[in-house]
Amino acid sequence: ARRQSGGHIAFFESSMGDIARKRFDIERELRLAIAKGELRLYLQHQVDTQGQVCALEALVRWAHPVRGLVPPGEFITVAEESGLIIALDNWVLTAACQALAQLAAAGCPISIAVNVSPKHFAQDDFVDTILATLEREGASPNRLLLEITEGLLLDKFDEARAKMAALSEAGIRFSIDDFGTGYSSLAYLKQLPIHELKIDQSFVRNLPGDKNDGALVDTIISIARHLGLAIVAEGVETKAQQHFLAERGDLTLQGYLFARPMPAQAVIDALVHIPAQ
Ligand code: C2E
Ligand code: CA
Ligand code: CA
Ligand code: CA
Repeated sequence: ARRQSGGHIAFFESSMGDIARKRFDIERELRLAIAKGELRLYLQHQVDTQGQVCALEALVRWAHPVRGLVPPGEFITVAEESGLIIALDNWVLTAACQALAQLAAAGCPISIAVNVSPKHFAQDDFVDTILATLEREGASPNRLLLEITEGLLLDKFDEARAKMAALSEAGIRFSIDDFGTGYSSLAYLKQLPIHELKIDQSFVRNLPGDKNDGALVDTIISIARHLGLAIVAEGVETKAQQHFLAERGDLTLQGYLFARPMPAQAVIDALVHIPAQ
């Protein structure tokens, strides 16, 4: 299991070191969890430089009956390797579309960004699934962003481009997550319908002190501006980081400084000014 920051120890870490066995256990439990409805949609604010909420990112949690709330770092890898990620991503997509429909009904024009795993994206019916889910839940494609990673573009580029073009034509926007941490060339940026780059939190973490990270962030911002792309900086935890980024002009910020990921219904209720029950 990947480690979360803040000294959090993975629940699934075993002293036996029996990795294969552990993976199998997580896989079996996760399969049941999806069927039993143990996944939870969490939403995290993205804010403009004035601090106003302008979008939300959908982040999944697993409400485990014994272990409590399990963060995705502990099961996403197993989900990807076992193929369960497709069911998981579709569950999140459905929940996010329901949240969008609720927000729209309350007159709140906020978008939700949903993470897409490479395996999910590679499915032949990916485009149809996205469009059918939006339609079924009564959500507008114009309010949905799909966060993809550079790795997903590495093979079958033409197929990826065709899928993105079809979804883009329907009004869905794409965001490149963890930008700058992959190994792909930058050429794809001008060949694909991309709306936004997300500056990875590893580049934000040591701002403003680290001059190299500062230079990398400036370079990413410059690339995005030249290509007419929106920019989100993630992992903003301190006022000093916020200040460094706000000095760069029009950016969207996301991080614990503004809000933690919170249960979807609480976020929606707060945005539409209905007191939580
Ligand atoms: P990500 O997409 O890069 O999401 C950002 C992660 O940073 C989230 O972790 C978020 O809670 C965390 N974060 C937000 N603000 C801060 C901050 O100020 N400081 C720090 N240190 N962290 C911050 P989370 O929710 O644990 O998710 C981890 C990863 O799991 C995500 O990284 C994403 O790759 C994956 N993931 C989450 N939900 C889904 C999903 O529905 N589908 C798929 N395929 N992957 C998901
Ligand atoms: Ca993301
Ligand atoms: Ca990210
Ligand atoms: Ca990440």
